[in-house]
Amino acid sequence: MRNNKSIAILGGGPMGLAFAYELNKLGYDISIFEADDRLGGMTSVFEFGDLKIERFYHFHTTSDTDYFQYLKELGIYDKLVWRNTKMSFFINGKLFPWGSLFSLLKFPYINFLDKFRYILHIFYSTNLANWKQLDKIDAISWLKKWLGPKSYSLFWRSLLDYKFYELKDNLSAAWIQSRIKRVAKSRDIFLKEKLSYLKGSSQLFLDAIEKNLINSNVRIHKSSPVKEVLVNNNTAKHIQLFDGRKFSFDQIISTIPTPFISNIFHGLPTDYYKKIQSIQNVGVVCLIYKIKGKFTDSFWLNINDSKMDIPGVIEYSNLNPLKHGILYIPYYMPITNILFNKKDEFFIKRTNNFLKSINPNFSDKQVLDVKVNRYKYAQPVCGKNFKNMLPNFKVDNIDNLFIGDTSFYYPEDRGISESIKFAKKMVKLHF
Ligand SMILES: Cc1cc2nc3c(=O)[nH]c(=O)nc-3n(C[C@H](O)[C@H](O)[C@H](O)COP(=O)(O)OP(=O)(O)OC[C@H]3O[C@@H](n4cnc5c(N)ncnc54)[C@H](O)[C@@H]3O)c2cc1C
Repeated sequence: MRNNKSIAILGGGPMGLAFAYELNKLGYDISIFEADDRLGGMTSVFEFGDLKIERFYHFHTTSDTDYFQYLKELGIYDKLVWRNTKMSFFINGKLFPWGSLFSLLKFPYINFLDKFRYILHIFYSTNLANWKQLDKIDAISWLKKWLGPKSYSLFWRSLLDYKFYELKDNLSAAWIQSRIKRVAKSRDIFLKEKLSYLKGSSQLFLDAIEKNLINSNVRIHKSSPVKEVLVNNNTAKHIQLFDGRKFSFDQIISTIPTPFISNIFHGLPTDYYKKIQSIQNVGVVCLIYKIKGKFTDSFWLNINDSKMDIPGVIEYSNLNPLKHGILYIPYYMPITNILFNKKDEFFIKRTNNFLKSINPNFSDKQVLDVKVNRYKYAQPVCGKNFKNMLPNFKVDNIDNLFIGDTSFYYPEDRGISESIKFAKKMVKLHF
């Protein structure tokens, strides 16, 4: 049944697309406004020579059920490929196998008791039903309490240092627990992990959902960044694009990263505006390498090395076998860090050196191509008591305005499936 109400969705990432998909099922008249020339946001794909691939590494775990449900509805679930993947750990200048019970038992730098605590912590994190008590605790104290200071410093310190920098001290334990749970659920009882990717990249999903929406008369405006949304008399009146076009809608849903909100939305209630402004994010400078041969056998290589300011190397071609080896090397940091605006060449030179330190057999001659992709608001920083600080999805005292982004599904970490799940839940609640 058609519904004569019109809805504007700002942002054409997975969340915006999921809102459009769900509301279209209910018969609303939908228009999407996306700033970029392509859909997908953080999930979007670019042309890396002859290969279409995600700008940022993407994989899926067994708990990504909302995403899988969409793949089924769109008729592309058979393109999801599951693989047993390997992990390794570069520490003190040496590469160790990682990611299985056996590798933990063989790991030389911690004693048996600490190994037992490590397993107990994964078990606890995976099976904890109520995360709310962890919302009040900071992640570092919680990790140290469970694992002991030595294991914290070996397994977690550099990961947090090189993702959050000065913001790491206030991270919520609930957020870390939910990350551990997501990955642990994709492991068997011996801790071996099984992950999946979409054959044809996330573009296959983006194309399928775009086609579905267009066939249902959803209007998709690409290269259409929203400049301003005017809120007046408790109502969001109209939206204006940078090219001057103005549109009016019955309802507006914003899925664009919240750090952009204060510049776009004028007239938000003061308390709501303050809450939105308090949400912090870190950015990412992510290098993607196309190489001859392999770098290692692992999909995920964790790094703990004082000379390297990266949390790891993701050898994507060890999950998704491609014509050439593909490595992603992310540098996460607050965008106020002076490194964030350094030129691409700076990061390439630095990374080439890191790669040679990790694998001395790796040579520049193996590198066929390198690209650097950046995203300013790539990861929300969920601090202690984040649950109470989060604004409501329906903007307080405004009848027709809704705002959400990846921080709104705290304590779950950003992910395609989580963005879809959030959209489904909010549509059920509010429409
Ligand atoms: C390095 C990295 C690795 C990741 N790995 C994984 C993974 O392995 N598995 C997984 O499931 N997820 C992964 N993710 C996360 C996943 O990509 C995100 O959770 C998902 O894309 C979030 O979707 P979203 O629509 O909520 O937000 P976004 O993708 O951020 O979409 C927001 C959209 O708003 C648009 N926008 C911004 N300003 C405006 C404006 N003024 N007007 C109109 N539009 C605007 C943006 O262009 C963007 O398209 C990863 C992300 C990163 C950065």
